[in-house]
Amino acid sequence: MKRGCFFALTVFFSGITVASPDRDTAAVWKLQVRINATSGQASLPIASPGIFNAVAIKLPSGALQSGNWTCAAGKRHTTLTRDEHAPNTSSDLSNLWVLSQPDSLLSLEYRGQPLTAEITAIFLWVPPLSETQHMSAEKRADCSAPGLISQSVWRSGLPAPVPGRSATPTHHCIIHHSGENNGDTNYTQIVRSYYTYHTTVNGWDDIGYNYLVAANGTVYAGRDPEKAGIRQDNVLGAHFCGKNNFTMGVCVIGNFSSAQPDSLAIQSLEKLLAWKIHQDTLNPYGQFKHPDNAGSWLDVIAGHRQGCATECPGDKLFARIPAIRDAIAPCALVTAVYTGSNNQQPQLKWTQGHLKLLNSDTPLQAELTDPAGRLLWKGRVAASPQLVPLAGPVIYRLSVTPSLVLSGWLIPE
Ligand SMILES: [Zn+2]
Repeated sequence: MKRGCFFALTVFFSGITVASPDRDTAAVWKLQVRINATSGQASLPIASPGIFNAVAIKLPSGALQSGNWTCAAGKRHTTLTRDEHAPNTSSDLSNLWVLSQPDSLLSLEYRGQPLTAEITAIFLWVPPLSETQHMSAEKRADCSAPGLISQSVWRSGLPAPVPGRSATPTHHCIIHHSGENNGDTNYTQIVRSYYTYHTTVNGWDDIGYNYLVAANGTVYAGRDPEKAGIRQDNVLGAHFCGKNNFTMGVCVIGNFSSAQPDSLAIQSLEKLLAWKIHQDTLNPYGQFKHPDNAGSWLDVIAGHRQGCATECPGDKLFARIPAIRDAIAPCALVTAVYTGSNNQQPQLKWTQGHLKLLNSDTPLQAELTDPAGRLLWKGRVAASPQLVPLAGPVIYRLSVTPSLVLSGWLIPE
C-alpha cells in the first residue's frame, strides 16, 4: 500500500500553562491533534510549545488498542502503552514517556485499523536536578556512614588522651561551630589544636566532640572511644555544658555568626546525621526530655544554644537546622514522636515467665514470634507483669505508634 499523507492534522491549544522561559520551572502543555488515518497508517510530527522532556498521549477510549502507536523524540523511540494507574475516564491515557534527552518535536506514528480521532499530546518540562544536587541525593539515599579521619591519623605525635571512656545512648545530636578558623584549610592542624586545647587548657580527658567537620567536608573522628563496645557516635563527650548524657556532639569548624557554612561541610554534616538517625532509629523532627536539662524538651537535632547559654553554633548554621532535618529525613526509620517515662524507649522484660513493659506510660501491643516468624503470642503489655508461658528466646515486635515498631530478641531471665 502506498504510504502518504492520508491524514489531516489540526492542532488546538487546550488548557495550556503558558510556556515559561524559566527552565527551572515545571510546565505542562496540551495540544489537540486530529488524526485521520483512513489507510490504517499515519505519521504526525507534533511541535511542542516548549522544550519538553516527558510526554503522554490521551486518546478516545479504545483507540490505543486499535493499532500500534510509536513515539520518537530526543533520539529515542517507544511504543505507547496504556497507563493502568490513570483515573477512570472516558478516554485512554498512555503511560508517561520520560525522555533521556529533551526535544521540541514529537514524531507520532500509527499503524493499525483505519482510524479517525482527536487525540491530545501532553508535553511536560520537568527541570532536572543539577549534578551536585543529584550526587548529594544519591549519597543520602544509602544512609551509610561517612568516611572518617581516625584519631590515629590526626593525633599522631600528640599525647594520648586520659583513659576512662563511657558510653551514652543518643537522644540528641548537638550541632556546634568551633567559632574560629573561617577560610583556613589546615583542618588536621586545627583538629590537633582543639584536642590540645581541650586536654590541656580545659582539663578534659580528650577532645570534647564526637565528630568534627571541616569546610571541605572532611569528617574527623573526635573523642576516642578507646575500648570495644563503645562506638564513636555514643562515646560520652564534653560539649553541652555538663549535660552530655544522651547527646552526640558534632562541631563544624568555623564561625557561622555572620558567615554561611560551606556547602561541603553541610553535606557531610547531613550525611553523618542521616546515618546516625537511621542507625539509632531517631526521629529528626522529634524531641526528648533531657534529664539534665531540668527535664525540659530538647530537639533530637539541636543547636548548642538550645540547651546552654551560648551563641553556638552561630546564627547562620543554627538557621540551617530545619533544612538539615528535612535533608536527613529520608534516612529516618521513625517519623512519629514518642517519649515514654524515664526518657527511655519502651522496653520489654521477661522475668520468670512474666512479661512486663518498662518506660511506657501506656500499655502497648506486642507480638512474640519464633525466628521463622511464626506467631507465638500476641497481646497488650503493661507495667504490671503478666504470665506468658513460652520457652526460649523469642523475637518481639512492640508497636509504639503505627510508624514506630521496636523489635529484637527477647531473652528470658
Ligand atoms: Zn557549641
